[in-house]
Amino acid sequence: MKKTLQLAAIAMLMYSVISCTDSSLKTPQQNTENALSQARENADKLRCASMEVLEENLKEDPKLKDKMREVEEFTERFIKNKKKGRVAIDQELIIPVQVNILYRTNAENITLEQVQSQIDVLNEDFSGTNTDLVAYNGTFKTLAANYKIKFVLQLPIIRKATTKSSWGTRDAMKNAKKGGINPSNPTNTLNMWVCTIGGGILGYAQFPGGNINTDGVVMDSKYFGRIGTATAPYHKGRTATHEVGHWLNLRHIWGDATCGSDQVDDTPTHNIANYGCPALDNHRSTCTNTPIEMTQNYMDYTDDACMFMFTNGQRMRSRAIFDAGGARATFNP
Ligand SMILES: [Zn+2]
Repeated sequence: MKKTLQLAAIAMLMYSVISCTDSSLKTPQQNTENALSQARENADKLRCASMEVLEENLKEDPKLKDKMREVEEFTERFIKNKKKGRVAIDQELIIPVQVNILYRTNAENITLEQVQSQIDVLNEDFSGTNTDLVAYNGTFKTLAANYKIKFVLQLPIIRKATTKSSWGTRDAMKNAKKGGINPSNPTNTLNMWVCTIGGGILGYAQFPGGNINTDGVVMDSKYFGRIGTATAPYHKGRTATHEVGHWLNLRHIWGDATCGSDQVDDTPTHNIANYGCPALDNHRSTCTNTPIEMTQNYMDYTDDACMFMFTNGQRMRSRAIFDAGGARATFNP
């Protein structure tokens, strides 16, 4: 991540140099528009830092690679058995959620109502009852999943005043010794830290198989929930849906490579991440067989208003980790 931040800093520096050089040739309005689109592009590129954080964790913990390979092998076996009818995934799972808020300003100390609005989004999105999916009747409708997972907010929310203006992506917010808040009952509770991350990053998650003391999801308070400080175009709570997707072992739909694999059978191969709000079911990938890309999938990078579904294949992959012997089996006693 450090490298990414350095690159981002260099890019911003270069951009400011270039924009200073260019400004004499452009109208003030053009400069404002360019600055806005550049800011958006920078933010989009760093939308989610989960893969960068994973890379850092893999470097620091030599055993993590093996653990994650075990999770992957376990998942493959689970899916094979599911196809043979040997495991059931229809029982509803209850996931307690502890929200930990670190704030420097009053605005960062978001309200209980804003937190609850995020929990509501998670429950709608993971059950497929979100209104945008209900209204959709296109190409991928039959693949849309009901995860049968219920997220339950634990009260009280834990709140802590700090002097830090940004927390970065090295998990300091998860550690009381570093000024953060230790996770509560991480073996059976999804911990979410809400703080200012910085660097244009909206959120990041830890994948199954990682260190239990840092397990959970980190969200910037400006992109949490759908009321209060939630800021467009990431103001509908979908960043947390995306990050909880990673926590549930989902990869980005483009597989973090050109025409890469997300290890899911029923999602189309994407060239790369999609941004903004593409026309639905209308964009063909140039990968093998040129499938129509599922830009409305939560594991893409489209705007909050334009992502609205998980697939049954993604659900199967996620449910594997809760099966007996799975990486998050302690959530399912
Ligand atoms: Zn992501």
